[in-house]
Amino acid sequence: MLKIAKNRLNELFAAIAEKQTLYIPVDREDGAAEYRKWENGCEMSGALNTVRSAKDFFFPQTENLVDFKMEGKNIEVIDIRKESEDFVIFGVKACDARSFTILDKVFLVDPVDSYYKTRRDHGTVVTMACTRPSETCFCGVFGIDATAPEGDAACFSDGENIFFKANTEKGQAFIDSISSMLEEGDTAKLDEVQAKTKSILEKLPLANLSTDSFGGARLKEHFNSDKWGELSEACLGCGTCTFVCPTCQCYDIKDFNTGHGIKRFRCWDSCMYSDFTKMAHGNPRLTQLERFRQRFMHKLVYFPANNEGEFGCVGCGRCLSKCPISMNIVKVMKALEVK
Ligand code: SF4
Ligand code: SF4
Repeated sequence: MLKIAKNRLNELFAAIAEKQTLYIPVDREDGAAEYRKWENGCEMSGALNTVRSAKDFFFPQTENLVDFKMEGKNIEVIDIRKESEDFVIFGVKACDARSFTILDKVFLVDPVDSYYKTRRDHGTVVTMACTRPSETCFCGVFGIDATAPEGDAACFSDGENIFFKANTEKGQAFIDSISSMLEEGDTAKLDEVQAKTKSILEKLPLANLSTDSFGGARLKEHFNSDKWGELSEACLGCGTCTFVCPTCQCYDIKDFNTGHGIKRFRCWDSCMYSDFTKMAHGNPRLTQLERFRQRFMHKLVYFPANNEGEFGCVGCGRCLSKCPISMNIVKVMKALEVK
């Protein structure tokens, strides 16, 4: 397998950044990690995951979709999109890589979201296999192997070297583009690291969480469950869980009058908010119980029912660590589990 010594990683990043914009996870001053554009001196974070997921690269939190210029009774529609440039996201973890598959099922089905598709076409996802999963991780529950991540190309660390494997043609083209810096490496130590990580994954506290009770078959049973009242009772409707979630894809479209015309924006929204999908007749989900139920029914029941069993969660654990009242999808799954 081709590899590069870990202490040459910055050299590699410089070579990639010469050809394409490169984004890597870096440590912020408060110790948390976030993706940033690589510049000379940027060090890759050793954190398990970024606070915000990598979905922003394909589905940004805010984007200007189109402008309208008005003169008298004439309206000119201005497509303000510029051709996207190729870019590389390096160091994406297995859970976030799977989230792209889930987002593809939303944005790339007919009618295709051309904004999302352009970014997907121009982006190369280079993943990094996990070696230190945390007790909030449960990606394995959704069939994700943290030691063999998806993405266009996958990287694996044995502590001293980074090994590369192509998963797609785009990934192979990426590896070919940096091949002059890579050399064949012995994977004996990597195999040991992989075996150790697998053993940690098997022993994680949430490794045995079951999805058997979920999917489309029990829709009515779960919808009518009397557990939702207690589960949703303390929910603040803050939307934090939806904003950190790599698979949440709700958005709102708003027009702003600039005085000379209209700028149309798409912004992330949250099904936990009381004004979400508010229409002329009002809001279809009037209580926090209904809104809370919608979020979890969507991930655990509606989405798999409509997407060949694929759940709308990748077990990244972000909602477990960020919810201010310590409510999360694991608690919901345990409460609704059919024994
Ligand atoms: S529901 Fe929670 S654990 Fe699942 S993908 Fe979203 S943030 Fe991660
Ligand atoms: S983060 Fe917690 S309190 Fe906030 S909306 Fe989500 S479940 Fe409710």
